[in-house]
Amino acid sequence: MVRTPTVCPFCGCGCSFYLVSQNERVVGIEPSIANPVNKGMLCVKGWNAYEFIHSPDRLTAPLIRKHGALVESTWDEALKTVSERLTDIKSRYGPRSMAFLSSAKVTNEENYLFMKMARAAFGTNNVDHCARL
Ligand code: SF4
Repeated sequence: MVRTPTVCPFCGCGCSFYLVSQNERVVGIEPSIANPVNKGMLCVKGWNAYEFIHSPDRLTAPLIRKHGALVESTWDEALKTVSERLTDIKSRYGPRSMAFLSSAKVTNEENYLFMKMARAAFGTNNVDHCARL
């Protein structure tokens, strides 16, 4: 068994734990007792924060809906599509027709940039965060 220290990817609390791996596969989690944030404890999300790592359902490329079906694409095409569609919605229906919902799984800095994009680039104050759902 190999124990690798890391930080939980599920929210901004910053709990830490060891990923326990065997034969190049992550097989479990051990909470860090030394970390002052979680002191050896984890919530249910933290305890299960490794199950997606080897999942065959894990997305490895962006998907774009085309004619009703999700089609694998490149990041360049996906970002271009999102940019064009958001710009189109804004010009057709106005900035108040849009809302931006951010994520606890990204950093504070990324959440800040997301908020700035919503307000400065798209002109809407409709910004929220998944922690309030
Ligand atoms: S274990 Fe739970 S509370 Fe701690 S960082 Fe992960 S999701 Fe957040």
